Amino acid sequence: MDYRLDEEQEAFVAEVRRFLDEELSREVVREVAGDERMGPHAKAFLRKMATKRWLSVSWPEQWGGLGRSPIERYLLSEELAYHGAPGAATSNAGGRIVAPVVIMFGTPEQKDRFLPPIARGEIDFALGYTEPEAGSDLASLQMRAELEGDHYVITGQKLFSTACHFAEYHWLAARTDPEAPKHRGISLFIVDLKSPGVTIEPIWTMAGERTNAVFYDQVRVPRENLIGQPNQGFYLLAKALEFERMFVTGDLRRYFDRLVGYMRERKDDSPTAADDRLARHRVAQLAIELQVCKQLSARVAWQLTVGDSSGREASVVKLFKTELAQRMSQVGLRVMGLYGQLQRGDARAPLNGRAEKFYRQSVSSTITGGTSEIQRNVIATRGLGLPR
Ligand SMILES: Cc1cc2nc3c(=O)[nH]c(=O)nc-3n(C[C@H](O)[C@H](O)[C@H](O)COP(=O)(O)OP(=O)(O)OC[C@H]3O[C@@H](n4cnc5c(N)ncnc54)[C@H](O)[C@@H]3O)c2cc1C
Repeated sequence: MDYRLDEEQEAFVAEVRRFLDEELSREVVREVAGDERMGPHAKAFLRKMATKRWLSVSWPEQWGGLGRSPIERYLLSEELAYHGAPGAATSNAGGRIVAPVVIMFGTPEQKDRFLPPIARGEIDFALGYTEPEAGSDLASLQMRAELEGDHYVITGQKLFSTACHFAEYHWLAARTDPEAPKHRGISLFIVDLKSPGVTIEPIWTMAGERTNAVFYDQVRVPRENLIGQPNQGFYLLAKALEFERMFVTGDLRRYFDRLVGYMRERKDDSPTAADDRLARHRVAQLAIELQVCKQLSARVAWQLTVGDSSGREASVVKLFKTELAQRMSQVGLRVMGLYGQLQRGDARAPLNGRAEKFYRQSVSSTITGGTSEIQRNVIATRGLGLPR
């Protein structure tokens, strides 16, 4: 099997690296790694990326995209994640997830209205799926949208809407037919987050990062903001989840390289972590698993390129990557000993507290975007054909 990139792909990666060398400032990386995960420098960086059409890298050219395959989208995201840049994970949900669904199901008016500002990096989206009583079982969602004249009136609550404090729009699932079987009564809306009646309140995760609870109180949403047909939202959501299912290893590779760099450091003649045989074995094991993870995620990008969107391979990557992140964060702390627990800002904290922060961050990775149990369910049923 030949895993090499072709010439055009090599040139694309080189161009991305050059761009990152020139444009990615410390301020941007600091904002993305910070608790709010976004800030003015990061937003400005995204707009510069937009001039390259990289926020819309795999949309068709007629909508302002670059018309590249999911493989190029994957290569771009790998580089962004490795360098700590925005655009691959929490931000650019508009370009990565919303726009492809609008291109498939939106009206011509919706395409004209939303696609150009997404491609230019002027607007972004937060995903509004989860509710207090609907997470893994998303079809149980209760937020209610009632049609009154030419508006839907929406009332209810969303939980863990991560990007709401910096995004302009909510990509919102709400129930439009409470009498129908639960999968068949849901619709998908684009909601301006500045609409009267929307309240956004922070929830701080154990990693100290912000996600949000969002309350809708009789929020009036124009009928033309409904995407697709009424009550077909669950099928559109399934499509949106397909576009979300591209995982990269750049963020893990970044941490791993820094960890190995830390182990190589020798400031005096005292033994270092690199001399500890057990620690060496642990990072050697991580190096193997990282390679496995990279191959698995590249495979999903390739499958999306050839039109196979069965989802089970994506579940394999999601599960493997996030559980690897947890193993890696544990090894990091062991290698650094008690110093590893020091937080950012403490002069004695190795890697400026990255190990401690990563340990806390990695906990939620196996929950967000579908828990490990749900991924195992998908692998068992869709992958192995076991009964539901
Ligand atoms: C940091 C963070 C960011 C998030 N960002 C967003 C966001 O931007 N937008 C958004 O809409 N949501 C977001 N989420 C929500 C996330 O998708 C849900 O938390 C997740 O899907 C799990 O849902 P739940 O929390 O309701 O847990 P539940 O579904 O109640 O699950 C509780 C436990 O039961 C297990 N379980 C549930 N069903 C099954 C089953 N059928 N078989 C086996 N085990 C099962 C789960 O694995 C879990 O361990 C975020 C969550 C976190 C933690």
